[in-house]
Amino acid sequence: MLCTRIRTALSARLDGEELPPGLTARRLDEHLADCRDCRRWEERSRALATGLRRAAERAEDDDPAAADALLARLRPGSVRPGPVPPGSADSGGKRAG
Ligand SMILES: [Zn+2]
Repeated sequence: MLCTRIRTALSARLDGEELPPGLTARRLDEHLADCRDCRRWEERSRALATGLRRAAERAEDDDPAAADALLARLRPGSVRPGPVPPGSADSGGKRAG
């Protein structure tokens, strides 16, 4: 079994994608048990994936507005609150009685 094929499958598994045909999770684990190179490779890939996710989460924590802006940019036809046409809204603030 070629290490490159194993790593392709490992990468898919880390991404939550389906494994390439002919490869099973068990096969991967067996190879990892034997191949230290691939084990290291997976560790690094996992660390990278985790790091990216953490960075994204932290960015949201630090600045929610930035995350919103990013989402807005990803959606070109985003809805924005326009001015309310007169007559359709209640006169807010006033209370009867
Ligand atoms: Zn290997």
